[in-house]
Amino acid sequence: MTVWDDLVGQDRVAETLTAAARDADARVTAEASGTPPPEATKMTHAWLFTGPPGSGRSTAARAFAAALQCTSPDRALGGVPGCGFCDGCHTSLIGTHADVEVIRTDLLSIGVKETREQVRRAQLSPAVGRWQVIVLEDADRLTEGAGNVLLKAVEEPAPRTVWLLCAPSLEDVLPTIRSRCRHLTLRTPPVDAVADVLMRRDGIEPEAAAAAARATQGHIGRARRLATDERARARRATVLKVPLRVEDIGGCLRAAQELIDAAGEDSKEVAEGVDVKETEDMKAALGAAPGGRMPRGTAGVMKELADRQKRRSTRTQRDSLDLALTDLTGFYRDVLAIQFGSRIGLANEDVRDALDRIARASTPEATLRRIEAIGACRQALDRNVAPLLAVEAMTVSLRAG
Ligand SMILES: [Zn+2]
Repeated sequence: MTVWDDLVGQDRVAETLTAAARDADARVTAEASGTPPPEATKMTHAWLFTGPPGSGRSTAARAFAAALQCTSPDRALGGVPGCGFCDGCHTSLIGTHADVEVIRTDLLSIGVKETREQVRRAQLSPAVGRWQVIVLEDADRLTEGAGNVLLKAVEEPAPRTVWLLCAPSLEDVLPTIRSRCRHLTLRTPPVDAVADVLMRRDGIEPEAAAAAARATQGHIGRARRLATDERARARRATVLKVPLRVEDIGGCLRAAQELIDAAGEDSKEVAEGVDVKETEDMKAALGAAPGGRMPRGTAGVMKELADRQKRRSTRTQRDSLDLALTDLTGFYRDVLAIQFGSRIGLANEDVRDALDRIARASTPEATLRRIEAIGACRQALDRNVAPLLAVEAMTVSLRAG
């Protein structure tokens, strides 16, 4: 299994990246032997991967990073870099390669301070590997200041440094930065390809794999969670009941409150898992005895940590709500398909009765209005409208009539 096997349904992207990795390899080999580097090269120092959530942006970036560090002897025999087995590939993929840095954030934004650190790192020559690779998974979360810091590094890169940026779409990245990157677009992988990878890699039964792939419409990570995590299935079931519950105002408000509560629970669970340990570790690092008083002068650091945890909690809540809205949109899209007489490829075949019921009781125009109401809710959340207000406005608009 090579590093490219994880790229599901992205043949063209994989082709481009393997060609670049091959040229990159030729360049390093030429430089090492003192011969002039090959002229035509498909390799470049800054790449931007865009594509819808779940299409595998960061998977593609990591596979490429691994291929750049591949040291398999097969390369010399015409093999494709990225064997998946050599030390370079293996350590890159599991995240322990000294010259592959993956930056992802669980916050809403990436600031100037963190970005400066990475830019400093980017000036260095590779420590052990062939290239210094920096994967920035959430390039859309760079603040404008951070973007400007990064711009300099992308403009004048060190000779062996490669930046791999990931974002949902081109519009999410500062124009100055994206114009300096080679752009690759990933598409939503076909449902069959996702089901196949769930069976092949995760050992999931064919029927469950197909159902999960269909329900998540080509989002690999979500499909895997749905197939393996009981709680994710329960959460989806709750969301898909919302359309049946919005018959009167009371039902609308209750449904909204439940969606908000569920998002709150998700964020609480993350907090219990991570925050408590993080706080204990920090206290220990600052020299506090367990249960004892904090040493003088540490209040600022502790407050910074608390702020960071609060921002993370906001993002978890937002992501969880976003997921619910995606499922809800999928439901009404199915309703619309039924209203138009198409029954092929419904995402939510498992709640067919509910789909049929809503389809019979309304018109395509009403369904389109409902899909728009969900979109409006998403936009309101992006503008930081209080979540409960935004979701209530949505459930009220989902009501019949
Ligand atoms: Zn390798």
